Amino acid sequence: MRGLMMDSPLLISAIVRHAARNYPDREIVSVTGDNPQHRYKFSDCIQRIHQLANALDKLDLAQGDRVATLAWNDYRHLEAYYGIGGAGYVCHTINPRLFPEQIIFIINHAEDKLILTDPMFVPLLEKIADKTPHVEGYIILTSEDQMPQTSLKNAISYEALIEPESDVYEWPELDERTAVALCYTSGTTGDPKGVLYSQRSTVLHAYAGIAPDVMNLSMRDCVLPVVPLFHVNAWGIPYAALMVGTKLVLPGPKMGDGETLYALMEAEGVTLAMGVPTVWLALLQYMEANGKRLDKLQRTVIGGAAVPESMIREFRDKHDVVVHQGWGMTEMSPLGTLNSPKVGMEDLSPDDMIAVQAKAGRGIFGVEMRIVDDDQNELPWDGVAFGALQVRGPWVCSDYYKLEGSADSHTDDGWFDTGDVAKIDPEGYMQITDRTKDVIKSGGEWISSIDIENVAMGHPSVAEAAVIGVAHPKWTERPLLIVIKAAEADLTKEEMLQWFDGKIAKWWYPDDVLFVDEIPHTATGKIQKVKLRQQFADYKLPT
Ligand code: AMP
Repeated sequence: MRGLMMDSPLLISAIVRHAARNYPDREIVSVTGDNPQHRYKFSDCIQRIHQLANALDKLDLAQGDRVATLAWNDYRHLEAYYGIGGAGYVCHTINPRLFPEQIIFIINHAEDKLILTDPMFVPLLEKIADKTPHVEGYIILTSEDQMPQTSLKNAISYEALIEPESDVYEWPELDERTAVALCYTSGTTGDPKGVLYSQRSTVLHAYAGIAPDVMNLSMRDCVLPVVPLFHVNAWGIPYAALMVGTKLVLPGPKMGDGETLYALMEAEGVTLAMGVPTVWLALLQYMEANGKRLDKLQRTVIGGAAVPESMIREFRDKHDVVVHQGWGMTEMSPLGTLNSPKVGMEDLSPDDMIAVQAKAGRGIFGVEMRIVDDDQNELPWDGVAFGALQVRGPWVCSDYYKLEGSADSHTDDGWFDTGDVAKIDPEGYMQITDRTKDVIKSGGEWISSIDIENVAMGHPSVAEAAVIGVAHPKWTERPLLIVIKAAEADLTKEEMLQWFDGKIAKWWYPDDVLFVDEIPHTATGKIQKVKLRQQFADYKLPT
């Protein structure tokens, strides 16, 4: 027997309608290239979303056509999310930090018809315009008077495009499985792969994101996403915030600028900020150097890479801020786990609590996890066994865009193979031990590069640490520790190795320590292990 409930489709336009009715006065504050502090209300934002959707409908676009954005986090980019996706087009967010060849690849692969771009990326687009033949026009995210001179065809300023349009819009009644957004993986190996989110997956993911043990988002919050709108939907914040009426603070091109981030947090009363560990390193360093303290921030969600214990400790001890680690990936919209304490953990000692927080967190309802060995046998959740992490759920990709069936990413029984190696403890807290490709295979056993990095990062003289496996005649591979010293710190190899005493197993100790000035990062701020391995491919470990 079927239930007798309405079959209302889950559409992002419903979020806009809900926000318009319930939170018209909530604020969105943005830094943009043409305005260091733009401020308006949800009601203004929604009127402009309607204007954009009306404007797009008048252009030569068909439902499902890809409309790209190349932009930082600000109000116009937020409007584009809803104006494009809500009207039935696909909002393809492009990461401006990718190499030009990768940008050309993904624009062509997506067959983008239009590109909405920040003015600062106009020169980049001009350089590659003759290599992206599908693009029919460019909308420059600025006002008419700030419009740059450009050779880009059919270029128009965003404000001139939307200005003549009505601020009332009739949203189309789409099937909830309609595609709404497209984001390509960072592509550390091979070409980037497209992940195509649906209206339904996006709305369900936003519902999950606001839950108390996930991001605990509400109208009482003010959120600063330092996670870019160009990468995995800024962890779903643009949708979740309008769903519950959260004030938004968008840092524009100032994402990596500790001073601006600090000033915004204090001035706007930011209660929750989110970002990858590299971003918070910059902020913590700025505050340390300038004797600043965070008075308003209550919590931060950090993910995208393992969070070092030292960072959790510094936020807690110096700023009274709780760090919630999260794990996810482009293929998962991205939320998979979030770290919040379970009942019964109130009495843990501060050190034991940090040990819990250093894990990636518990599975969010909607994402099922399992860990398996090389023969696909499920491993126990005992906090010891580690294996390939596989997931399934309504906001996990079922395939890659235009690669259907060929990416070898899913198991025969329908789970997505994340490419991560993890262990899960009896309480359900998952901990990433490595990417499958980064794990160090020493004498037939696995060594977690992330565990060694985390311990190294705890040393006060270490600014950043990376561990890779290098070839070893007897053990196949052994760990090499690469370190950037903290400013003016004096640290020797012997002191560094001593630091591991009692913290990791002896056979996990790095065979060598190298001090460098720079560690390469991917376009999303993660350590580029592939590049490091290439750089040190011929490195001979001391015997
Ligand atoms: P991306 O698709 O670019 O967002 O990258 C996803 C990958 O980042 C995951 O597959 C993990 O390898 C890594 N990652 C994300 N969150 C964490 C975390 N909390 N700890 C360790 N690695 C993480």
